[in-house]
Amino acid sequence: MKMNEYIDEAEQVLLHTYNRYQIVLDHGEGVHLYDIEGKSYLDFCAGIAVFALGYSNDNYKNAVKNQIDKVIHTSNYYYNVPAIEAAKAILGSSGLDRVFFTNSGAEAIEGAVKAARKYAYLKDQTTDHEIIAMEHSFHGRTMGALSVTGNPAYREAFKPMIGNIRFATMNDIDSVKAQLSDKTCAIILETVQGEGGIYPAEEAFLKEIRAICDEKDILLILDEIQCGMGRTGSMFAWLRYGVKPDIMTLAKGLTCGIPGGAFVVNKKVADNSLKAGDHGTTYGGNPLSASATVAVFKEYERLNIIENVKTVGDYLYKKLDELADKYDIIKAHRGIGLMQGLEFSVPVADIIKNCIESGLILINAGSSILRFVPPLIITKDDVDEMIGILTGCLDKQ
Ligand SMILES: *Cc1c(COP(=O)(O)O)cnc(C)c1O
Repeated sequence: MKMNEYIDEAEQVLLHTYNRYQIVLDHGEGVHLYDIEGKSYLDFCAGIAVFALGYSNDNYKNAVKNQIDKVIHTSNYYYNVPAIEAAKAILGSSGLDRVFFTNSGAEAIEGAVKAARKYAYLKDQTTDHEIIAMEHSFHGRTMGALSVTGNPAYREAFKPMIGNIRFATMNDIDSVKAQLSDKTCAIILETVQGEGGIYPAEEAFLKEIRAICDEKDILLILDEIQCGMGRTGSMFAWLRYGVKPDIMTLAKGLTCGIPGGAFVVNKKVADNSLKAGDHGTTYGGNPLSASATVAVFKEYERLNIIENVKTVGDYLYKKLDELADKYDIIKAHRGIGLMQGLEFSVPVADIIKNCIESGLILINAGSSILRFVPPLIITKDDVDEMIGILTGCLDKQ
């Protein structure tokens, strides 16, 4: 069948919750994807900041294949070695104390919110605690995660949300203070906002939030689902700020394509919140998913991924700055490491469409921001190739 025939068929069978680009992808190699007609695309999306290791990492693939041959799933009623190793890797690189594995980012957020509410409940036995979240945040599409997502358009039709969520403005500490009350049990934010438009937290802001949380025994939840796992040039973005969360959420790069996520807590939360029977999942941390996480951490070390992100991220920053200087329609350039965005004065949908036609996969973050979240193994040559294609498309605008 031809590509457009598959696309027609897809629209007959899949619920239309996405306006998809008109390509049917078939396989990947290195940092390139190929459609079913053999056309190649340089991938600066990485499955939305997921496929950090690119598409040809044999160690990762073999680890997953070997685990498939051993056992794929057992259940959380029993122990399995990959889950123990995966948890050790996460704790070793974060200095946090306990891991709960989930199937996705949204579920990691759900767990983090439950842990925060239970922590507060155990202190005063009341059930009217509040959570402060940020405007323009994105934490996922399930009801709890949606309730803390600062995009009213995503929430409107699905109300009522879970109660007692208050919104503040990222990088405006007074707006956070204005939402504080005796009932605040947690403050949740992305260390670097992703979907909302690539807005990094400012160091002073994050430090003040940490200080408020310490003073009032409020839990700080940092959502590292997109900005974690090396994307900003440190294993977790908060490591750059010298601010440690009480709870961190992970997904996307954590498993690099096999579904998986986690929420990770410090000892205080581990000892004083969720207990046996309070929370669970059938698949979370199953041997297949956990084996992927173990392989990801091993490959990060072997390939020195963090160093590559720093070097190539700096190079990308310079190159995107040059573009921003050259084109009047580019209003701003933000980001850290291999998580960057260009804000345009026009919608970017047509630019992305042109890029895809020219063999470059890019995504947006909001309607007017181009997002650059490539596999973390990209080279400066890949950046040059991307800039070449993007420049061609911008000249056509
Ligand atoms: C993608 C994302 C989520 C949701 O993860 P899913 O796996 O899609 O449920 C939550 N928070 C952030 C910051 C994300 O980027």
